[in-house]
Amino acid sequence: MSEEAESPETRMARLILALRSQGVVDAKVLNAVEGTPRELFTPELFKERAFEDSALPIACGQTISQPFIVGLMTQALKIDRRDRVLEIGTGSGYQTAILSKIARLVYTVERYRTLMGEAEGRFKTLGLTNVITRFGDGGAGWPEQAPFDRVMVTAAAPGEPTALLSQLKPAGILVAPIGKGPVQVLRRYVGDGKGGFAVEDLIEVRFVPLLDGVAKEL
Ligand code: SAH
Repeated sequence: MSEEAESPETRMARLILALRSQGVVDAKVLNAVEGTPRELFTPELFKERAFEDSALPIACGQTISQPFIVGLMTQALKIDRRDRVLEIGTGSGYQTAILSKIARLVYTVERYRTLMGEAEGRFKTLGLTNVITRFGDGGAGWPEQAPFDRVMVTAAAPGEPTALLSQLKPAGILVAPIGKGPVQVLRRYVGDGKGGFAVEDLIEVRFVPLLDGVAKEL
């Protein structure tokens, strides 16, 4: 490959191809990824790598998820234009921004004040008017706004996320990494409309843990 820097368009086209080849084929999802400038969500030090299909470090020892995983989780939720979606773990806000392009409303919760503040700035810059943020412990969900059509958890839950499942509509869908170790399983719960769920394991993933309470540090 030439040493010359590739254009952002070329880099984005390459990223979209990488997602497609790994099974992210939903046009709505691919369009949302294509329309979301990941460099805006990436720390200065890693901006050059914003178009790579890899997770990157952000402030507070957290990570911005790998685009393939963001695409896969978004696709797995089968979001409808009319859906209200709850996201736990705002982080950089990258996944939130992608959800906001597909869903009607996105409610997102983060336990670090700094990350929430930075993400809110990005939503404003991008003119995203359908994102509602909350600084707090997302493990408890957002009871005041429940029930939700869809729930996405972007930090690893140690076991079944019962509080979040209870805030899902009867035929809703929840996607979450489940497991206590460094490698977890990405699990999808599909409501059967009668209070039960069909449970499906999608792939192995590596997420930072879902922690209890809000962070004491900034
Ligand atoms: N979706 C994010 C990924 C962020 S990593 C992105 O695209 O950038 C996971 C995030 O979950 C971290 O920011 C972490 O602080 C947050 N988190 C962990 N436990 C949480 C909890 N109980 N409530 C809210 N956020 C939590």
